[in-house]
Amino acid sequence: MKIAVVGAGAMGSLFAGYLARSREEIWAYDIWKEHIEAINRGGLVMTRGNMDQRVTLNATCDPTRPSVVDVVILFCKYVHTRQAMQEARPMIGPETLVLTLQNGVGNVDIIQEMVPRKQILFGLTTLTSELLAPGHIEESFRGLGETYFWPLSGEVNATAKQLSSILNEVGIHTEITPDVELRIWRKLIVNTCYNTLCALTGLKVGDLINQPAAWEIMNGVIVEIIQVAQRKGLRLGEEEGREILKRIAAETLNHVPSMANDVRNHRSTEIDCLNGAIMREAEKMGIPTPYNHILYNLVKIIENTYNSRLR
Ligand code: NAD
Repeated sequence: MKIAVVGAGAMGSLFAGYLARSREEIWAYDIWKEHIEAINRGGLVMTRGNMDQRVTLNATCDPTRPSVVDVVILFCKYVHTRQAMQEARPMIGPETLVLTLQNGVGNVDIIQEMVPRKQILFGLTTLTSELLAPGHIEESFRGLGETYFWPLSGEVNATAKQLSSILNEVGIHTEITPDVELRIWRKLIVNTCYNTLCALTGLKVGDLINQPAAWEIMNGVIVEIIQVAQRKGLRLGEEEGREILKRIAAETLNHVPSMANDVRNHRSTEIDCLNGAIMREAEKMGIPTPYNHILYNLVKIIENTYNSRLR
């Protein structure tokens, strides 16, 4: 099987690095030249605890090099999805499956602009990764992690099954399961609360949760998300939402969520597929979402004014 990871940053490199342990043909495609050159020069360095592993894999900035593949795994940030999918066109034939494990809600809609429904797989992963330097990532997840996906059409074909087997063989615990959407919305609660509030306050998760005022806001966010999720037919309750936040906080006290890092580094954030996605979905249903709206607007103000911030 031929698999191309499109967007080979922290997560894309993690998946490409694991997949490179298989006997399949694996490609990492990214527009970040320094990173791709480093991988081609000395391999991808994967740090886990105090162990470094060097993995050889095909890495390229030229989307025509892999030619048509069996599976594209999309791992860029939401803001780059449309562009990356356009560039990835030479890799996508009529049988190619495109799998997104990106965070948030909305990537699938963009992919559908370019790829038929029957070729799209969507899901999530609890694995995490950090970029330490070009050609060097750190596997930051604890335990084994879980990855889930499901075809948008609801029909699991042989390529999807083979992909799942390969991922499991290389150590990425993967399940093809129809409850993926519910799992995505559970994760959405975590990201719309912790990513956004840590970005706005400049706090780690562990410090944020000690602030009663943060819980007041997060509670408001949860109530709105649950209303939207329930209207979509998902079995998710407010109490469950609060439990999820508490459980994840206990596991990630020292974690700096990616949106906080994006803001620190003056980059675009994924707010549009997080609190922004809740707003979009809620608007279609006529559900007011003032908490999500205010958080969304605050992040947008920051994103738009990186050059004029007070120090
Ligand atoms: P990242 O910024 O480390 O990597 C994204 C990569 O996409 C970059 O290397 C960038 O150069 C590349 N890219 C941008 N435009 C491109 C284009 N047009 N063509 C090809 N490549 C392009 O981001 P990440 O942390 O790996 O996150 C990727 C996705 O996974 C996000 O949706 C994120 O929310 C999600 N996610 C991240 C983690 C994590 O621990 N990092 C965990 C779970 C999910």
